[in-house]
Amino acid sequence: MSDRIQLLPEHLANQIAAGEVIQRPASVVKELLENAVDAGASDIQLIVEEAGKRLIQVVDNGCGMSETDARMSFERHATSKIRDIDDLYRIRTMGFRGEALASIAAVAEVEMQTRLNDQPLGTLIEIANGRVLRQEPCACQPGTLVKVKNLFFSVPARRHFLKSHAVELRHIWEEFNRVAMAFPDIGFSFIHEGELQIRLEKSTLKQRVIQLLGKTYADKLITVQEKTPYLHIQGFVGKPDTARKNRGEQYFFVNHRFIRSNYLHHAVTTAFAPMIPADSHPMYVLFLDIDPAEIDVNVHPTKQEIKFGDEKMIYAFVQAAVRHALAVASITPVLDFEVPADIQQAPALNRPLTPEQQFQISRSALYESFTQPHQAHMIAPKTSVSPTSAVSTAQPRTWQSLYERIQASADTLPQQTELSLPVEAAEEQLFPVQLHLKWILQPVKSGFILVHQHAAQERILYERYRRAFQHQPIATQACLFPQILELSAADRAWLEHIQADLQLLGYQIERAQDTEDFVITGIPADLTPGHEQQTLMQLLAQCREQTSNMQLEMREHIMRSLASQHAVPIGRPLTRREMQQLIDQLFACKEPELTPSGKRTFIWIQDATLEKWLANPLVTEHVHWPATQ
Ligand code: ADP
Ligand code: MG
Repeated sequence: MSDRIQLLPEHLANQIAAGEVIQRPASVVKELLENAVDAGASDIQLIVEEAGKRLIQVVDNGCGMSETDARMSFERHATSKIRDIDDLYRIRTMGFRGEALASIAAVAEVEMQTRLNDQPLGTLIEIANGRVLRQEPCACQPGTLVKVKNLFFSVPARRHFLKSHAVELRHIWEEFNRVAMAFPDIGFSFIHEGELQIRLEKSTLKQRVIQLLGKTYADKLITVQEKTPYLHIQGFVGKPDTARKNRGEQYFFVNHRFIRSNYLHHAVTTAFAPMIPADSHPMYVLFLDIDPAEIDVNVHPTKQEIKFGDEKMIYAFVQAAVRHALAVASITPVLDFEVPADIQQAPALNRPLTPEQQFQISRSALYESFTQPHQAHMIAPKTSVSPTSAVSTAQPRTWQSLYERIQASADTLPQQTELSLPVEAAEEQLFPVQLHLKWILQPVKSGFILVHQHAAQERILYERYRRAFQHQPIATQACLFPQILELSAADRAWLEHIQADLQLLGYQIERAQDTEDFVITGIPADLTPGHEQQTLMQLLAQCREQTSNMQLEMREHIMRSLASQHAVPIGRPLTRREMQQLIDQLFACKEPELTPSGKRTFIWIQDATLEKWLANPLVTEHVHWPATQ
């Protein structure tokens, strides 16, 4: 009488469900391509006619299906990808809801041919209006072919809402790009109206990105790569000059699934913040890998939105990874000694200095001597301080005579800097030579010294820092990419404790707005940016190990840690000029012979010693450590 509720006929239920999953031809393309990927295909072909309104066909060489599975695959909630609710938190496949094929078959004419690899024959199924019209064995290639014809033929209202061919085709391209981008290991072809639109061979991610987004990106990609036990991010961001006013080339994947997230888009955009105008969008292709248990992909029928267990952490991670990548990329201008136009135009560089910054710079000793081109925006070079003039005042008696011998050798140096010397000049080559990218061999009158490049510079920097604490603070350059230091409460306390000391050494660290975090806003003027975060984290780790926090001892730790971290590493090639400078500066030190931790920085071997060795090679006590002359 008044009972009015009825179960919907299955076909109608499927049509209604299809409304969620299948909105336009591009949705069919997405579902079929994802099924082919899930089937383990290594090659996938997409064939489209009339922007997908007449035909969408996907052919794959994946695992194929048995006769029963072929029939089952069109049932709603039929899937081979999950079995129980726990599987939902282990999903590595694109599909899992088991409703795509059922939905498609409810609103189009579908033909499928599928064959298991080890079977001689495959299965052919034809379905229209949700009803099986034909099912029979057929001869076909291993893998699966799905043809979707006349989409929405039985739902005129929906067909009516489809847009022009051009618009629908653009949507198809978008879906194709997203799947093809996420799986560079798979070959793809896309054919429209009988014409090959694109052929993608299996390739690297970089090649795939350039093929899909255009050759203009060939030398415009900055690699992003960070790994933690919990999260892994990799991919590319475009250099700042590729940022555009309209959105378009932004691809974010989580476990290979393309997702939309304004939140994460914001994380990437703000990482670029000082370098691109506020209203433009950087290009990026980023892949986040995370334990599937930490995300929920089942919050949206097309799975383009997901929920993260800890969204804030992901935000910070993505932002930090992109910042880091940009900072590391900014090393390039140092290597070729030229600031690229895109970086030069960054607003951060063109902002005038604040009076406070100007004061800090002019107060510092480095202001006078600093001339490195990539930092020219910060520090105007004036007269340079000659390292030898410093020697005459600081040189302690002990090493005077050795250093004089080095100088005497240098005086006899030919003026030419080329390696091919005129014959007469080549008679005695007294300039320093680098050995094994580790030692500097410096001939001196009747002998030579062998300087350990890293140890020597540790000593030089250590004494430089000591002067910084006493009376000569080190100049700061403003960071192009201020780096966030995310610290534990204990480390924050340490950092606060040494913040003022670090400022004297050129590191400017400030509290981030509205958070507990610290931000590195300035680094020593003569440092190449990009490693500051790592350096300070390492310093804090060393502080943590210290039991005493007396100011004096803290300074000693800071000086040692930074000296060893900033000293030129073993393995770095040095120019002759750099070697000469290093030796000059070493002998300008108060204690040139030892590193701050007490290791030798060089060894002095005299002719006479060598002669003795040759006469009696077994007598090693003839190896003389530098003795007071
Ligand atoms: P889902 O992908 O969510 O499982 P679908 O409706 O897209 O649901 O597919 C249903 C099932 O059909 C899949 O779980 C899979 O077992 C099978 N299937 C679909 N397409 C293919 C294909 N191209 N190759 C092999 N198996 C397929
Ligand atoms: Mg699927």
